Amino acid sequence: MKYHIWTEGCQMNVADSQRVGSALEHLGYSNTITIEEADVIVLNTCVVRQSAEDKAYGRLTSLRPLKIKNPNLVINLMGCMVGVRGAEKLKAKLPFVDVFSPPSDPGPLISFLTQGEVRSMEDAETTRRFLAMDDELILPVHERGTLISAHVPVVYGCSHACTYCIIPYRRGIERSRPVGDIVAEVRSLAAQGVKEITLLGQIVDRYGKDIPDGPNLAGLLRIINEVDGIERIRFLTSHPNYFGEDLMEAVAELPKAMPHIEVPIQAGDDIVLENMKRGYTQADYYRLVEKIREKIPGCSIATDIIVGFPSETEEQFMQTYKTLSDLRLDVAHLARYSPREGTVSSRRMPDDVSAEEKMRRFRLLEEMQEQILGEINAKYLGETVEVLFEEKVKGRWKGRTPTNKLVFVESEENLRGKIIPVHVTWTGPWSMQATLLTQQPVLVSL
Ligand code: SAH
Repeated sequence: MKYHIWTEGCQMNVADSQRVGSALEHLGYSNTITIEEADVIVLNTCVVRQSAEDKAYGRLTSLRPLKIKNPNLVINLMGCMVGVRGAEKLKAKLPFVDVFSPPSDPGPLISFLTQGEVRSMEDAETTRRFLAMDDELILPVHERGTLISAHVPVVYGCSHACTYCIIPYRRGIERSRPVGDIVAEVRSLAAQGVKEITLLGQIVDRYGKDIPDGPNLAGLLRIINEVDGIERIRFLTSHPNYFGEDLMEAVAELPKAMPHIEVPIQAGDDIVLENMKRGYTQADYYRLVEKIREKIPGCSIATDIIVGFPSETEEQFMQTYKTLSDLRLDVAHLARYSPREGTVSSRRMPDDVSAEEKMRRFRLLEEMQEQILGEINAKYLGETVEVLFEEKVKGRWKGRTPTNKLVFVESEENLRGKIIPVHVTWTGPWSMQATLLTQQPVLVSL
């Protein structure tokens, strides 16, 4: 019996899919990359923008002929397309889907496969507990011993109300995972060869705020820093308002916490930020970046930006442009505003920036950011950096610096899972090339 998982969207979905794969392997299924060969197909979906939702529908439609050919095929629709509030409308629309699962929950699929039906969500919860999936993640076979960098959810859901965002509606209220579950999972991953852990949450720096006696994110980093076998720790995504000095200090002090922060600004203009209900100003964000750089020297900072939010004027957009130009951040994930069903902005604010204008703004930021990145990365040229290598891609070993820059090295040795100092020989905006120190070309004097 075989399963196939198709995953779209954020790292949380990647982590969720891993849990589904793991649960299915508990039941005796094995992974296949050939969809036609699968007995169970899971589509783990994203709806953060219309384009993602369209993609998921496209995939779903392509599954229909498979189901007609093989009525025993089990199709599981999972993730943000389903959401946490029941899927009655979707069920009517998609009669060939057998099981609907909310984000982060393999339970309904497992109940369906073991009992032939999903009796209730409590039932699904029991199944999940039975499989001990809350505190121990046994990686799917194809990832065991090969997966070097793993994602561990620490906060599920989100209780913020950014006006553009559909995630709180689809992932439910914010719930932090108990520290014991997280540590057990990290230990179990370390025992399976994982070297790097990325802690995940929609607002990860709110970790622990709903658990009175537990640690906050800084405390959690300190605890995970002690786990043998784990060499590097990252976390994402942070919200500017919750990024406290204790967290900066933890990152600066802890040898395993990497100098790499993902903290979205979304827009550089104060009125747009207010319309988005982000809860901070441009000046607040500038101060935050300054403080991070002061407390964590050499830290790389990534941000997210939405262009073309309702009523965003050219002047307001130019504030975002100015922000990226002033702050010179290491990564900017750019998105064009997409109205999402049920969100405050889609109900109350007309989507009045044209598609062409959104694209123009997007391109302007993209071009500037590429230039900035090229310059930032050029500073690495000739430097020695420590790289954690993950896999070989087209004959070259791929790894990352502590600041999360992508590095490629040619080597016949097996570098998987090793942290090695390398000498940077070429840099571009998106990646670098390097040589192992021992491999540096020796100059022969004639
Ligand atoms: N919780 C995280 C990530 C949310 S989703 C955060 O608060 O930043 C990832 C990114 O998608 C967001 O940071 C935002 O830039 C983008 N995004 C979210 N909703 C969007 C929408 N309606 N249209 C366009 N981009 C959106």
